[in-house]
Amino acid sequence: MRSFLSTPPEATLESPDYAIIAMVQGSLGEPGVTLGTKGRCRFCGQTEPRAFRNVAHTLPEAFGNKWVTSLDECDACNARFGTFDDALVKSMGAILTVGGTQGKGNKVRQTGRSDGPASIRHRIVDGKRLISMRANGTPFAEHFGVNRKTGELVFRIPGGTERFIPARAYKALVKMALALLPADALPNFTKIIAWLHSTDDDLLPHMIVGISFSIIGNSPPLLAAALLRRTSGNRDTPCMLFVTTMGSVCLQIVLTRRHGLRVPE
Ligand SMILES: [Zn+2]
Repeated sequence: MRSFLSTPPEATLESPDYAIIAMVQGSLGEPGVTLGTKGRCRFCGQTEPRAFRNVAHTLPEAFGNKWVTSLDECDACNARFGTFDDALVKSMGAILTVGGTQGKGNKVRQTGRSDGPASIRHRIVDGKRLISMRANGTPFAEHFGVNRKTGELVFRIPGGTERFIPARAYKALVKMALALLPADALPNFTKIIAWLHSTDDDLLPHMIVGISFSIIGNSPPLLAAALLRRTSGNRDTPCMLFVTTMGSVCLQIVLTRRHGLRVPE
């Protein structure tokens, strides 16, 4: 494979409050990266070799991850987490379509059915990308216009046709963060791992996701993910942060030991 992009140099963080404790990155033309140690699932403790037949993507394939996989995620956990990834993908389906993110089989995910209330299509025509949106039954002006006060272009994408459980989309991000966690820190997160395995899909107020998205050009074939730990004694700031950039989407959560727990620790 020809190398189009080189992996950027190791990121540095100029923050007096946080230090990067784990980081992974991948891009087109670079070799794959595997995380974890083979032989034991970090999420359920499975050690049976036959339970590790599938490739476990650390970050969702649908967000363009072709490079980073986990050796310590068993097939059963992989299948469960796949439903979380699916919810995350649905929650951001329109962004993935508009950004032209190439997922499994290098295909761009299309959003909505053509005969449904709304759909978005991304196509390559004569080497140029073409994004189209169809909204059946509502005026186009409701979806596209100019904010006269600010001069901003307003592009309102109907996303209500994709049904998903928000807490599961959140669980997908928590799982990615835990996949990066140094093994010796895992025992501190057993309650969170139990919550990932539970059927508790309640969305709680602290489950907030920071999202940013760039629409300039197609989604670049690269990704990075990092865990940051607070180094200062400032207890007003979160103890741990998880940040990932996949293509043109950047997502951030606070990793606490109390996800899913109604009584904060
Ligand atoms: Zn497992």
